[in-house]
Amino acid sequence: MGKTTGFMEYDRHDAPYRAVAERVKDFNPVELRPSEKDVREQAARCMDCGTPFCFGCGCPLDNVIPEWNEQVYQGRWKEALDILLSTDNFPEFTGRICPAVCEGSCVLGINKEPVSIRQIELEIIEKGFDLGYMTPKPPSKRLDARVAVIGSGPAGLTVADTLNRAGYGVVVYDAAEKPGGILRYGIPEFKLGKWVVDRRIRLMEAEGVVFENNVWVGEDISYHYLQNRFDAICLSGGAREPRDLKIPGRDLKGIHFAMDFLVQQNRRLGNEKLDPVRDILAAGKKVLVIGGGDTGSDCVGTSIRQGATQVSQIEILPEPPLARAETTPWPRWPNMLRVSSSHKEGGTRRWSVATQKIEGENGAVKAVQCIEVEWVTPAPGARPVMKEKAGTEFTIEADLVLLAMGFVGPGRNKLVEDLGIKTEPSGAISRDARNMTSIPGIFVAGDMTHGASLVVRAMRDGRRAAEGIAEYLKHKPSV
Ligand SMILES: Cc1cc2nc3c(=O)[nH]c(=O)nc-3n(C[C@H](O)[C@H](O)[C@H](O)COP(=O)(O)OP(=O)(O)OC[C@H]3O[C@@H](n4cnc5c(N)ncnc54)[C@H](O)[C@@H]3O)c2cc1C
Ligand code: SF4
Repeated sequence: MGKTTGFMEYDRHDAPYRAVAERVKDFNPVELRPSEKDVREQAARCMDCGTPFCFGCGCPLDNVIPEWNEQVYQGRWKEALDILLSTDNFPEFTGRICPAVCEGSCVLGINKEPVSIRQIELEIIEKGFDLGYMTPKPPSKRLDARVAVIGSGPAGLTVADTLNRAGYGVVVYDAAEKPGGILRYGIPEFKLGKWVVDRRIRLMEAEGVVFENNVWVGEDISYHYLQNRFDAICLSGGAREPRDLKIPGRDLKGIHFAMDFLVQQNRRLGNEKLDPVRDILAAGKKVLVIGGGDTGSDCVGTSIRQGATQVSQIEILPEPPLARAETTPWPRWPNMLRVSSSHKEGGTRRWSVATQKIEGENGAVKAVQCIEVEWVTPAPGARPVMKEKAGTEFTIEADLVLLAMGFVGPGRNKLVEDLGIKTEPSGAISRDARNMTSIPGIFVAGDMTHGASLVVRAMRDGRRAAEGIAEYLKHKPSV
């Protein structure tokens, strides 16, 4: 432990953000880097607890947080980087967009603000780049076996990176124009600059990973094509089938899935070709975002930047409490109100609101009729059920409605269907303990198997799948 009294001497200081009035005028990242002095003081707050709950119980990647906090406090950035990279393939992604599950389990968080783990993690990796430690490190020895990874989101990238470092030949296929999955096309630039994704892809290429984009596996190339060229395959195609809103008026013009809107904006900023007929823009519009999660909040920030005249967001669940709910005691991830950087930029939020019908004019959406609801627990321990509150109907004017109500599963995948790969009732791909599907040699990782979740969970799953693949290849007679 670096400084025994650090947690008593220093309060938590979060990294600065660009001023709202300035940042809403562009799509550039909103979070700024703290000074080195600040980061070292923040790392000194770590108590190096006997039983650190931040990993094991908190971080899905088991990042060894107290160890790197100690090195940061001492100013030993290279040592901190080596410890961080031993468990986290891409700290520049988790350090920017992880909700910091670890901080919910930080022991200091029991009676003070938890250690600002995510921000320290980000500084370790960015210092690593600044100081020239993040150079390409191809494996010293190449093995004969080759692996195809289908999907270049955080899960596929983690599988590819882990196996490439172990010496396997890896090709990553993706249907999109550029690699990155939701990191590139879903999450807005103001949360994760795409130069960060490009920088990592360049590093992986220099280390030997091959990226093949604009390739729909199952349509453009078949399983037999892959089977003849690779010793194992990993499916990491994500779970992007959106939940729809089946109420009268749904087919009016101006109602879109959130991802269609967000992907377009990212493609626009990336100078990719867009179909002008299908352009979805919030400029000059009254926008209603239905769904109160991360995707919804990204729609709020994007709509504000595009120049919406009004932005409203509604959520069917009740408003979370301001402090940790009793139902999620420490060290569990706290259920509590979260206010994103986008929420601080404008718009209104309402909870416990259900939608009843969408009203239109000349075939286009004009307003959405809503009603307040309450959540009642029918018996102790039973799941709460939703009840509409009679007489509370109201309408929200809107000429652009964005549906951000989550994802139901991976959707149709020709390769999975053709091979008859076993799936769960939700459509998620079934797997065994080492992430192998029902077809030997075909593995799965990320949202495609556990449902829409978090980048850090997709990466954890990618590491597990890579281990499973390496173990399988060790015993495969033809390898
Ligand atoms: C708008 C939005 C914001 C989010 N914000 C956050 C956040 O702030 N923090 C966080 O932790 N998580 C966030 N998430 C969740 C997180 O991004 C996902 O959990 C994560 O990206 C899943 O990774 P993945 O690799 O499994 O899939 P994806 O990232 O979805 O990548 C799947 C890739 O597979 C490709 N693919 C699919 N099928 C084929 C095929 N047949 N052939 C070739 N390629 C194929 C797709 O083109 C895609 O590139 C967000 C999600 C969304 C939608
Ligand atoms: S990856 Fe997320 S949960 Fe893990 S240490 Fe980093 S911020 Fe915390």
